[in-house]
Amino acid sequence: MKVMKFGGTSVGKPERMKQIASLLTKQTEPAIVVLSAFSGTTNGLVEIGDNIAKGDRHSALQIINNLQAHYENFIKELLTREDLYNKAKSIVDEHFDFLHIILKISFSEALSKDILAQGELLSTKIFCTYLEELEWSHVLLPALEFMSIDENEEPQIGSIRTKLTALLNQHKDKKILVTQGYICRNAKGEVDNLKRGGSDFTASLIAAAIGASVCEIWTDIDGMHNNDPRIVKKTVPVEQLSFDEAAELAYFGAKILHPASIWPAQQYKIPVRLLNTMDPDAKGTLITQEAASAGVKAVAAKDNIIAIKIKSGRMLLAYGFLRKVFEIFEKYKTSIDMITTSEVAVSLTIDNATHLNQIVKELEALGRVEVDENQTIISVVGYRISETEDIVKKLFGSIRNIPVRMVSYGGSRHNISLLVAAENKNQILQQLNKGMFGLG
Ligand code: ADP
Ligand code: ASP
Ligand code: MG
Repeated sequence: MKVMKFGGTSVGKPERMKQIASLLTKQTEPAIVVLSAFSGTTNGLVEIGDNIAKGDRHSALQIINNLQAHYENFIKELLTREDLYNKAKSIVDEHFDFLHIILKISFSEALSKDILAQGELLSTKIFCTYLEELEWSHVLLPALEFMSIDENEEPQIGSIRTKLTALLNQHKDKKILVTQGYICRNAKGEVDNLKRGGSDFTASLIAAAIGASVCEIWTDIDGMHNNDPRIVKKTVPVEQLSFDEAAELAYFGAKILHPASIWPAQQYKIPVRLLNTMDPDAKGTLITQEAASAGVKAVAAKDNIIAIKIKSGRMLLAYGFLRKVFEIFEKYKTSIDMITTSEVAVSLTIDNATHLNQIVKELEALGRVEVDENQTIISVVGYRISETEDIVKKLFGSIRNIPVRMVSYGGSRHNISLLVAAENKNQILQQLNKGMFGLG
């Protein structure tokens, strides 16, 4: 059995949904098909929640009505059989009635998660109605019955496996098993989610739980590119990556993959393929245990980074100083990305500003604290790049004219990271494309 995950743009238009169905006809083994919400829907649902939370029900209603009109047009274009169109119409009505009811009741964190879940619930039900029109045998496996996170918001593959296997045993005759990405239940049994972009994570968790032959991530581009295609014009797909390389790229900003989606596949040795729904014959990227070659593979950028510097005379020769610094970040559940130290100062970066004020206040007890927001981490990733000849010379030679705030080299053998001001990001990515990949 394989897992095939289709992202927002792959399901977001009726003709694309039809393309997915045609891809499914070519499958020789049973597939669990994980679907995201239509592109734009989750952003809309986030806005609805934010507006309700701040008491602006009028704006929330407007977004709900626009989304509803979009879904109504979508099913009109997708379905030709009248009974199935009516069925889809009542599905759409049911979910939008729910959103209208929410406007009238008091808002809570749990309710906001219910709002966010509507996108994947709708896309999967609409897709199944289309499969019904094609008269293809299939089943919808509700993710809320098997996908869960514990009190630390971590999914447990063992419990996912137990629940999913029980469901699969009820549908042994089915070759197409559709389910929702992104949504899950939390330790309290409430509806929750795996964070933005989390459908990739769902796919990888399912693949790990059932020991799938492959986890295919179908999106709108032919695999992981060597640089961010949203910023740099000439980028090329990378044919093969190791799990370590892919994890670094996903974590440091390559949006094509959710950062958490690598570990389940890596732990359970499931190959991952990144493929293009719009160009299904393109090779894409294969991600496996070992790297096929050494050297630089790709560059990624992670935005909204905050740099914190703690300067302290007392740090001089004092053991235990870093422990005190780390304990403060641990207390506020804020992870550190980069760190560099000198005899009198520690510089580090975080990407989560939720507790910034409290963190800074506590750090001030240890020394003088400087905070710089609007920073970007640029990561150059490749198997054993830190051992690659002339790598540092090439890297800094490509960006000679741009100031670098911090450098992390040697923390991982597969990554060299630079911290730069966000305003220099685009220029750096372009110059690295030329200097490190020879692409104009
Ligand atoms: P989906 O909706 O299918 O999950 P995403 O929008 O999350 O798709 O991810 C695909 C997008 O990731 C691409 O359209 C591309 O713009 C962006 N992206 C950013 N960096 C990279 C990269 N290094 N390689 C490929 N795509 C990238
Ligand atoms: N629909 C969710 C999002 O937009 C999950 C996903 O697409 O992966 O974040
Ligand atoms: Mg995505």
